[in-house]
Amino acid sequence: MDKIQKYEKVLINLYWVFIVLLFSALIFKQELYTEANVMFSKKIFLIVFLILILALNIVKTIFVKNIRLYSDKIFDVFRIIEVFLISVFLLPFSDGIEYLSLVLPLFFITIHKGKKASYILLALSAVIKLINLIVLYSVQESFDTTQLVYGVFKIACIYILFIAIFNITAKIYSGNLKNEQENDRLIAELGEKYEQLASAQDKIKNQYEKLKETNFKLEDTNKRLTSSIAEFYTLQQVSEAIGSILDINELLNFVNDVIIGVMGVNYSTIVLFDQKKNRLKVQFTNITNKEELAILTDNVNCELLLDILQNEKPIIENMVDPDKYDFIKTRNIGSFMCIPLSLKSRKFGLTLIEHRNNNTFNTENLRLLTTLGKQVSMAIENAQLYANLQEMATVDGLTGVYNRVYFHEKFENEFRMAKEKGYNLSLVILDIDFFKIFNDTYGHLFGDVVLKEVAQTVKNNLRGTDTIARFGGEEFVLILPRTSIQQAHEKVEFLRTRIAGNIIKDNLISASVTASFGIACYPETSSNQVGLIRDADNALYKAKESGRNCIMIAQKVS
Ligand code: GH3
Ligand code: MG
Ligand code: MG
Repeated sequence: MDKIQKYEKVLINLYWVFIVLLFSALIFKQELYTEANVMFSKKIFLIVFLILILALNIVKTIFVKNIRLYSDKIFDVFRIIEVFLISVFLLPFSDGIEYLSLVLPLFFITIHKGKKASYILLALSAVIKLINLIVLYSVQESFDTTQLVYGVFKIACIYILFIAIFNITAKIYSGNLKNEQENDRLIAELGEKYEQLASAQDKIKNQYEKLKETNFKLEDTNKRLTSSIAEFYTLQQVSEAIGSILDINELLNFVNDVIIGVMGVNYSTIVLFDQKKNRLKVQFTNITNKEELAILTDNVNCELLLDILQNEKPIIENMVDPDKYDFIKTRNIGSFMCIPLSLKSRKFGLTLIEHRNNNTFNTENLRLLTTLGKQVSMAIENAQLYANLQEMATVDGLTGVYNRVYFHEKFENEFRMAKEKGYNLSLVILDIDFFKIFNDTYGHLFGDVVLKEVAQTVKNNLRGTDTIARFGGEEFVLILPRTSIQQAHEKVEFLRTRIAGNIIKDNLISASVTASFGIACYPETSSNQVGLIRDADNALYKAKESGRNCIMIAQKVS
């Protein structure tokens, strides 16, 4: 295309020369164009031709300079117009030299399009010239056939000469033409290949993008999987701990450590809710700094934390404003997360995790902590249920003191310890006097109230290490570790007077009871466990025999 464009430029320039030549001829060689006995003067034809060829050359210049407008086909059309204009306006009055003007377009078309194209244009020109000749002769007054035949012959000779010239030209340039065509073909092929390459490149790029996307997704999935495995492992650890650690405090401590380890937080705190006091209390924390701990414990019952507990709505704060949170204040915390510990609307407390940096927590962390929270809540509930069950199994339902089953267990332990460590252990059995009559007099229900009162009176006056249990009916048994027979006697005397002096009221009834006591002591009166119970019971029997409301001590081992 570039090469042809260059040729076109040369041709246009040649046309400019041609136009100048014609113009000069018009001015200086007027004799060439003397008026003939024809319809139009040669001069007018020449002027019209000059104007048209000038206009065409200007249009061609515009087309050839503008790459966007340039097209091979348009220039083929220009060529036809050129030949047409030359044949119509220049050749009618010509016998020789003007034919040379045909050389320019025809030569050009021959070397670029081959001889066939030039023959077509030559034929076009010849037909025009022939028509022209016939018209010229027909308007002449005396029609000379010989002259017409001669004219036709002359034209035929000229055009045959042209055919011969362009045949030779085509032969000379055929190699060039072929090369050019081959070049064009190669260029076209190259263009095609280039397009294919570009589209292949596009496809590769697309595939690469898709691959990148898949890779990204894969990485994301992998990340999730890894964190899910870590989560799973953590939850498994905690659920194993729930199964194996019976003590709830030990368990909560463990959970707190797991949270710190897994979530990489600075602080983890478990806050429990005391239902009776309606207050939150820091139960476990890894905060060791006293000042920091004080800030947290003093402000743990703030509105925000109580609200989280009440509405069971967790919170993530990644940009902590210390002035906004009382439990943080000067503690240098950047982000925190707090989740409620609750189960079926039962509220146990909160888990609070804190980090020194900002933007530490996300919804994934929240999800894990919430799941952990649910497990912990279940463990707390289980522990509470277990404690209730334990109490039910060991505590007497009516009086609230331990039952006989628990007594035996406890007594065995206490006796073993007293024996091992070599200290005294006193055992007291007390029995309410004439209780059958009391029941008969005041009724069983009041009898129950009295039983409770007597049990509580004794319980309230014992040490933390002492134990009271209901031995059966209206009988109670007391275990007094590190208590000699003398000390036990003093204590029991105090209890006896208390019971006797306690007036029990229920609605309109008010009455009091007395009790009899039998005491035995290891190692003073009894040498073994069974002996202790037996000896205390015997002493009680003696007390009953002695008139009741009194204390009897077992016989000392001789
Ligand atoms: P003593 O002074 O010899 O011990 O005479 P007592 O009547 O207390 O002794 P006894 O063993 O004859 O009677 C015990 C009574 O205790 C019989 C029973 O009605 C009463 N009792 C046992 N358990 C309960 C109880 O749970 N509630 C009530 N209200 N009474 C009970
Ligand atoms: Mg009895
Ligand atoms: Mg009795």
